[in-house]
Amino acid sequence: MGMSQDEARTPTNFIRNIIDEDLKNGKNGAAVVTRFPPEPNGYLHIGHAKSICLNFGLARDYADAPGGARCHLRFDDTNPVKEEQEFIDAIKEDLQWLGFDWGKHEYYASDYFQLLYDYAVQLIQDGKAYVDDQTAEEMRENRGTLTEAGTNSPYRDRPIEENLDLFERMKNGEFPDGSRVLRAKIDMASPNMNLRDPAMYRILHAHHHRTGDKWCIYPMYDWAHGQSDSKEGITHSICTLEFEAHRPLYDWFCENLKIHHPQQIEFSRLNLSYTVMSKRKLLQLVQDGHVAGWDDPRMPTVHGLRRRGYTAAAIRHFIESHGVGKADSRIDVSVLEQSLRDDLDKTAIRRMAVLDPLKVVITNYPEDEEEWFEPSNHPKDPEMGKRKVPFSRELYIERDDFMLDAPKKFFRLSIGKEVRFRSAYWVTCHEAITDEYGNVVELHCTVDPETRGAKNPSDGRKVKGTIHWVSAKHAVKAEVRVYDRLFRTDNPEKGDFLEDLNPDSLEVKEAFVEPALAEAQREDRFQFERTGYFVADRFDHSKKSPVFNKAVGLRDTWAKIS
Ligand code: ATP
Ligand code: MG
Repeated sequence: MGMSQDEARTPTNFIRNIIDEDLKNGKNGAAVVTRFPPEPNGYLHIGHAKSICLNFGLARDYADAPGGARCHLRFDDTNPVKEEQEFIDAIKEDLQWLGFDWGKHEYYASDYFQLLYDYAVQLIQDGKAYVDDQTAEEMRENRGTLTEAGTNSPYRDRPIEENLDLFERMKNGEFPDGSRVLRAKIDMASPNMNLRDPAMYRILHAHHHRTGDKWCIYPMYDWAHGQSDSKEGITHSICTLEFEAHRPLYDWFCENLKIHHPQQIEFSRLNLSYTVMSKRKLLQLVQDGHVAGWDDPRMPTVHGLRRRGYTAAAIRHFIESHGVGKADSRIDVSVLEQSLRDDLDKTAIRRMAVLDPLKVVITNYPEDEEEWFEPSNHPKDPEMGKRKVPFSRELYIERDDFMLDAPKKFFRLSIGKEVRFRSAYWVTCHEAITDEYGNVVELHCTVDPETRGAKNPSDGRKVKGTIHWVSAKHAVKAEVRVYDRLFRTDNPEKGDFLEDLNPDSLEVKEAFVEPALAEAQREDRFQFERTGYFVADRFDHSKKSPVFNKAVGLRDTWAKIS
């Protein structure tokens, strides 16, 4: 999965400026070591992709640093109850698909459980951590508020020996869940709530997907994260803005343990309109059956976007063009959609597919005759070759390409009007056959033989419209899944997001597609002329029963509505 020249290096940003300065000063042996630290409790979403492009992009672009550059993949698996192997596998698959490689640098926070335990013992021995027997409620009450200092725990000044003994017995499983915690002894009056004796360990008798039943105490995020960074020799620990207020704690742990001290740098998270990004909400969509799974093409997950037809290049380009900063913002999802259009316009071959078929009979075309036209696969790129498209007496066109009582500006087919049938002939419609309810069920038309190959006729007459079509007897039946945005409001995160679900986000159609599409392989992407960009479904498509997903329309239809 190569990256093209023009995306080989990202423009500079404030993080790169910090790194440039550090390299100039020879800090950290002039090395650049970053990490991507997902918690394996869900699938990655487009926001994670930003963090991935950022961290792996730095390792790629600073490969020439004197001390070398690399990016670690570290699973932050400190919460045994929500984590699963399925998520780990999906995350690795997504990273590779996005075009990034962690090489041998695959790590797990759970591999550091013993190290973290030893570090905790060290802090206890130094009088900087203690076992607290308060209930969760007492601890909450004594924590104080933003305007009021907290109150010291009555257990805060326990002798070191007693703390060591109790902590070891916590580890040995002698106490029930939630009965005690280990806390850092910092400052209950600190204006930063994160420094008010934060919890380091909790008791939780739970089976861990990697360490089994070995541990019944689990480290808290703030305690595990920085120490894992340090252990791995991370130089720049890049995270999202909500961790800014945690940085003093990150620093306190490293300083008081006297261990390698990575620099935490915060950037603003990626938010998108018309979507939710919190894993909790995505999980709810999956569990309650509002979507077919984590990889439903309407999901903002990397798996979902891929199945929808997104290319890794389009996602990378979207993220790069958005930049890295400190200001919170929500990008309109149309920007993401446009970046897919831009990519597929160049790379997707063209095909004809009729999604809402209406039968056309060419009355002056012999019944047993057929001919094969050879249109190009791409209008601007002859190197993409040609394919053969059959024409015959009975065809299908798109239902809305015909109108009985057409207004003047309707340049497609109506009675007495002539249009160009793409790559084939100019066609005039003479009669519409209707059923007992007045619905048009068939059109009777003629071709002008002189326009064969859709060439202009010698008498100089003009048509304004060109429409697509498929030959009825050669057409391949296909299921086409037409997706739209999952939410109908701009910011579904605001209220009850389930109320904002778009009831029309999926429409399944029985379509007729040109025979060349019978050769489509899973994940092949196409422009269906005049309709949009489509992908052969990654899992359900087969030659026997073709399935195409709509990735994105040819233009932004939502812009017109609002
Ligand atoms: P959620 O809050 O949705 O559960 P998370 O941030 O807790 O997501 P993690 O698995 O911990 O999920 O995230 C891994 C990395 O991805 C973290 O470094 C996090 O900062 C980053 N990340 C998560 N969401 C975004 C986002 N929207 N934009 C940029 N980076 C993000
Ligand atoms: Mg997190």
